[in-house]
Amino acid sequence: MQIVRSIPQMQAVKYPEAAQVGFVPTMGYLHEGHLSLVDAAAKNCDLVVVSIFVNPAQFGPSEDLDSYPQDFERDLALLQKRKVDYVFFPTAEEVYPPGYKTWVEVEDISRILCGISRPEHFKGVSTIVLKLLNIARPHFMYMGQKDFQQLTLLRRMALDLNLSVSIVGCPIVREADGLAKSSRNIYLKGDQREQARCLYKALTHSQELVRVGERSAGKIIAAAEKILSDNQAKVDYVKIVDSRDLSETQEVDECSRMLIAAWVGKPRLIDNISLKA
Ligand code: AMP
Repeated sequence: MQIVRSIPQMQAVKYPEAAQVGFVPTMGYLHEGHLSLVDAAAKNCDLVVVSIFVNPAQFGPSEDLDSYPQDFERDLALLQKRKVDYVFFPTAEEVYPPGYKTWVEVEDISRILCGISRPEHFKGVSTIVLKLLNIARPHFMYMGQKDFQQLTLLRRMALDLNLSVSIVGCPIVREADGLAKSSRNIYLKGDQREQARCLYKALTHSQELVRVGERSAGKIIAAAEKILSDNQAKVDYVKIVDSRDLSETQEVDECSRMLIAAWVGKPRLIDNISLKA
């Protein structure tokens, strides 16, 4: 496994002609969710590149950039145990040098759901991912469905900008009690860890309502919101959307997905689930 710290060094990596390169972009502090993407890439590709970069451009001014958990040595130890060929670990100074001016924005999708409480977030995400794709030049990019809006937005960007990468969306990896694994879960203190289960409870309750025949998005959302507020979570949004374009749904159908964002204490958690009956 080779650690690459500079952009020119990563751009100079020569992949064998026929090699299929899989790429996993992360912000580090790796957990089994990230590692499931690495494993999927290793299974399907000849070479695996993992990037670790806490991207300042996707954090708002009052967000947790300064306290975002980081442990590069621990991340490396986890990646050493997998089939990883390159770990790309650039500095923010090199990624956004003085005079940096260029941003990519995916209209509409970046402004809904998480884009309402995090207005600059997705501009930062689309820009860094395009930059990383240009630098790492993979054939496949592996991303988690955990960040469903991000996945949908990046698929749109890849289509609109004629990128030659194929984006592979991978299932959400959860703790034993259903909480979606996240680097931010370490912020959950005391009772909050138990309370945080309510996101998954609300999602699975919604799935159950659909299974027994409920189709009204309004009723399913109201029941989910009650579960969240009964558990002291502060709702940012609970929406049922068409999983292809994230447009809001009134009547649940085969393509519907519930997306939740809620604060449990300080941490803001997101999760989602398919409502396919
Ligand atoms: P992050 O480090 O949070 O930027 O996440 C990097 C990648 O890991 C993104 O594609 C995420 O969607 C994915 N990811 C994060 N948590 C999970 C999870 N619990 N299950 C599956 N993928 C995840």
